Amino acid sequence: MPPVPGSAELAALEATIAGNLATVRARIERAARSAGRHPEDVRLVAVSKTFPAAHVRAAFAAGQVDFGENRVQEAFGKMDETSDLPVRWHLVGHLQSNKARKAAVRFACIHSIDGVPLLSAVDRAADAQGTRPELLIQVDLAGEATKHGATPEALGGIFDAAAACRAARVVGLMVLPPWPEDPEDVRPYFRRLRELRDRLHADGVPADRLRELSMGMSRDLEVAVQEGATMVRIGTALFGPRHV
Ligand SMILES: *Cc1c(COP(=O)(O)O)cnc(C)c1O
Repeated sequence: MPPVPGSAELAALEATIAGNLATVRARIERAARSAGRHPEDVRLVAVSKTFPAAHVRAAFAAGQVDFGENRVQEAFGKMDETSDLPVRWHLVGHLQSNKARKAAVRFACIHSIDGVPLLSAVDRAADAQGTRPELLIQVDLAGEATKHGATPEALGGIFDAAAACRAARVVGLMVLPPWPEDPEDVRPYFRRLRELRDRLHADGVPADRLRELSMGMSRDLEVAVQEGATMVRIGTALFGPRHV
């Protein structure tokens, strides 16, 4: 990670990130309007992974409240360093069940639930500790053995288990498609996630368990918003390229 900046660097960092935030918000707004959607129905999750707490503070100062991390341990460090700020932390990366207990306390939203065992572990931990995290079911639409996520066929059983949760609340679906050559290449994945949501609803899953579609990153947020994203996870376009 870069060294902790001095005050002149901090001011420059804040100006840069505030400008990037405005640009990303304008992209979301334009894409939403082009699809006949309300921009306020799309939540921006700022993915701060690999960047230090100073970047979180700078974005928070510019009005950003939702932040995403993909590694639990790295996230906990940044949470500690920004504990004076009312940040909403999202886990967008894989969660191992041995970290479910701590994750259930410290993340407002976990985007990477991939099956009933992890769902149950997070729910038990949340119930024991009095938290009510929001959970998204990550769906593997590419069928790549290396990717995490539940197969579409497994979703019925996962939503049955969601109905029995006592503390955690399943609120939707997430997809992380293969890295695209062209942003248009990912449109079928986003469309498929929306269609899966519609099918689950038709099969009787209540709408409040399906209200969020977490899809879209820096390169393809327009396509995701056009296809119905309610959360976009944006790193590079806000904080710059990652060097680690
Ligand atoms: C890193 C990451 C992002 C952000 O990607 P950018 O291309 O930098 O916007 C989004 N989602 C997940 C799951 C990630 O790990």
